[in-house]
Amino acid sequence: MLHLLDLRTIALVYVAIRVGLAVVLAYLWSVQRNYPPARDWAIGAILTASGLFLLALRNLVSPQISEILSSVLLLPGWMIFDWGIIRACGQQPPYKLWIGLCALVLLGNFWFIEVQPNDPLETMLYHGLLILFDLGAAYACLTSRCGTRRQTFRAIALLLLISVLSVGFKLAMEVFGLFAPLADSVPKVIQLLCSMTLFPMLTMLLALQTSQKLQDELNEQARRDMLTGAYNRRAFAEYMEHAWRRAGRHRQPLSVILLDIDNFKHFNDQYGHQTGDQALELVSRTAQTALRNHDIWCRYGGEEFIALLPDTDLRHACSCAERLRAAVAQTKLDGPLGALSLSVSLGVAQRNADHSNWSELVAVADAALYQAKAAGKNCVMAGEE
Ligand code: GH3
Ligand code: MG
Ligand code: MG
Repeated sequence: MLHLLDLRTIALVYVAIRVGLAVVLAYLWSVQRNYPPARDWAIGAILTASGLFLLALRNLVSPQISEILSSVLLLPGWMIFDWGIIRACGQQPPYKLWIGLCALVLLGNFWFIEVQPNDPLETMLYHGLLILFDLGAAYACLTSRCGTRRQTFRAIALLLLISVLSVGFKLAMEVFGLFAPLADSVPKVIQLLCSMTLFPMLTMLLALQTSQKLQDELNEQARRDMLTGAYNRRAFAEYMEHAWRRAGRHRQPLSVILLDIDNFKHFNDQYGHQTGDQALELVSRTAQTALRNHDIWCRYGGEEFIALLPDTDLRHACSCAERLRAAVAQTKLDGPLGALSLSVSLGVAQRNADHSNWSELVAVADAALYQAKAAGKNCVMAGEE
């Protein structure tokens, strides 16, 4: 059946598909200008599609033009495309190493074409590098930490590994003479057919991944307070629901600290609302750096913040609150009239069996905060255990 297939026809159909997909990726780039991987995919796809077009013209134009030019377009195109995947995974591609290898293999390629055409070593080096690029990108996908997009990255890694297998099969036949009973055209046909299905799927997954990333960013924005960057009340409720259930299930302690800036109305009146905003940012930043990584820091209302401390009892939460108080008291804000001081009052509460829901826990912290204000401010008070 294989001899019925005209390799050049398949190659031209494939080139047409790749050109179409390069247009799709270029469009993705045009609508996602601020997303560097989209640019890499577009440039990579355009270069590879042009290289494949020249390759499909082999024997119609001079081998120098078709082979040398196609390699010059294909290899860097493939490399840039895989860079984009690595960058989308939040990692840095090994730029210098890959560019160096690419330049070496291209130089080797020119030498082989001029001096020793059809040497299997040339095929081995060239395809070996393509395999290395795809393996690097697949590894980045498999080790990616991009939570909600992990599934998509795994699917991308799977496609890249299938591509590696098809290139490896071609190498095994052409260079090492394995699978000898099969016709010569078999590896080329397999690789072409494989790429014909893989690349459209890959393009769809990259577009899906880009839209998932935007969705993640929007979700994250909706959970943050614009001024301070702390989580907002909505995000607090989500984290609290989760932490509340977890603490109940695992019988772990759970505490909250409610923080309120002292005399903030007066501060605003004296130094202006803009300086007040800077003070809010500073207090939030200072408190956040004094917390542990897995504590959740939220802006609860105007000049009130709340810290959610999982796996923390009242005693530890109180010493944490004291740390926050001291950190803010030591911080100075550069205001219009010199360095300005701020202080905060804090109420602390720990979850107990009497609380039927987390609002009751927050109410206890609020009552403790009220006591701290009544006791002269700039201090920490604990609610009943
Ligand atoms: P206390 O020590 O008892 O907490 O007194 P206070 O003045 O801090 O409390 P009060 O609740 O009377 O005032 C809170 C002030 O916080 C009033 C409001 O103008 C200010 N505020 C709330 N949100 C913002 C904001 O986003 N930016 C600025 N600059 N001020 C804010
Ligand atoms: Mg207040
Ligand atoms: Mg206040």
